Amino acid sequence: MGMQMKGADVAAAMKESLIKETEILKEQGVLPCLGIVRVGARPDDLAYERGARKRLEGIGIGCQVTELPEDITQKEFEKEFRRVNDNPDIHGILLFRPLPAHLDEEPARGMIHPMKDVDCMSPVNIAKVFTDDETGYAPCTPEAVMEMLDYYKISLKGKRVTVIGRSMVVGRPLSMLLLKRHATITVCHTRTEELERTCREAEVLVAAAGRAKMVGGDMVGAGAVVVDVGINVDEEGNLCGDVDYDAVRDKVSYISPVPRGVGSVTSSVLAKHVVRGAAYFSGVN
Ligand code: NAD
Repeated sequence: MGMQMKGADVAAAMKESLIKETEILKEQGVLPCLGIVRVGARPDDLAYERGARKRLEGIGIGCQVTELPEDITQKEFEKEFRRVNDNPDIHGILLFRPLPAHLDEEPARGMIHPMKDVDCMSPVNIAKVFTDDETGYAPCTPEAVMEMLDYYKISLKGKRVTVIGRSMVVGRPLSMLLLKRHATITVCHTRTEELERTCREAEVLVAAAGRAKMVGGDMVGAGAVVVDVGINVDEEGNLCGDVDYDAVRDKVSYISPVPRGVGSVTSSVLAKHVVRGAAYFSGVN
C-alpha cells in the first residue's frame, strides 16, 4: 500500500522554520502582515480565510481583512485595493477571486506591488514563473505541490511527470516548477488523446482537473507517486479529490489524500510568501 503524503506533516515542518524567520523580523521591529481583500462573503472564501488566518496567526503573522460590499463600484474597489497596496504595514495581499461579475480584476492585477503579490496574480510574477526567475512568487497551490514532493524526498530529475490540467493557477505554473527541477513533463487537458495511457506511464502523476475521482486504478502505473490537487464534492456530498483514492492506493508508492493533502499546505506557502515580503520591504534578510 502506498505511503500517504500528509499535508499536516509538511505544514508542521514549514511552520517551524517560518516561526524562526518571523522571530528574527520581530526582533527588528517588523510584524509580517497579510492583507486580505474580500468582496462579499462567499462561503468558500470565508472558509479559506478562517483557515489561512489560523495558520498565519499560529506562525506569528498578522492578518488584516478588508471586507467590501458585494455591490461596490469598480472605482471604489480600485480605491480600496490601492489603499491596501499602499499600506506599509501590509507585506502581502490576497484578493479573493473570482470577483463579482460587474467588477474587473485587471486594474488590481496591474497595480499590485509585485513583492506584495503573494498568490501570483500580477503579470510580473506570472512572467517570472515562466522564465525561471526566483525573485517573484509562484502561485501558492503549485508551490504547495513542490513542498509536498520535497518533504517526502521524491526525486524529480529526469522523471516522467504528468500533470492533468493546464489552468493558469495550477497546471501550467506547476509544469514550469517541475521543469525547473529537470523533470520531463507532459501536460494533459480536456483535448488530450490517450489520457489513460499517458497517466499510466507517468512516474509522478499530479491531478488538477477538478473532476471527482476521475483517476482510477487503470490510470496509474505500479509504484507511481500520485499527488491530488482536486477539490470536489462526490455524490454523497463528501469532499474528494480527482483521484479515486481507494482504487489507487494499493498500486502506488506515495499518494496525497483529499482532504488533508495539498490543500493543507497552501496556506503555509502563503505564510512563507508574506514572511519573504516582510523581509523584502524592511530590508531584513
Ligand atoms: P480549472 O477548471 O481552471 O482547470 C482544470 C483543468 O483541467 C483544465 O485545464 C482542463 O483542461 C483540465 N481538465 C478538466 N477535466 C479534464 C478531463 N476530464 N481530462 C483531462 N483534463 C481535464 O481548475 P483549476 O483552478 O486549475 O483547479 C483544478 C482543481 O484543483 C479543482 O478541483 C480546484 O478546486 C483545485 N484547487 C485546489 C487548490 C488547493 O489548494 N488544493 C487550489 C486551487 C485549485
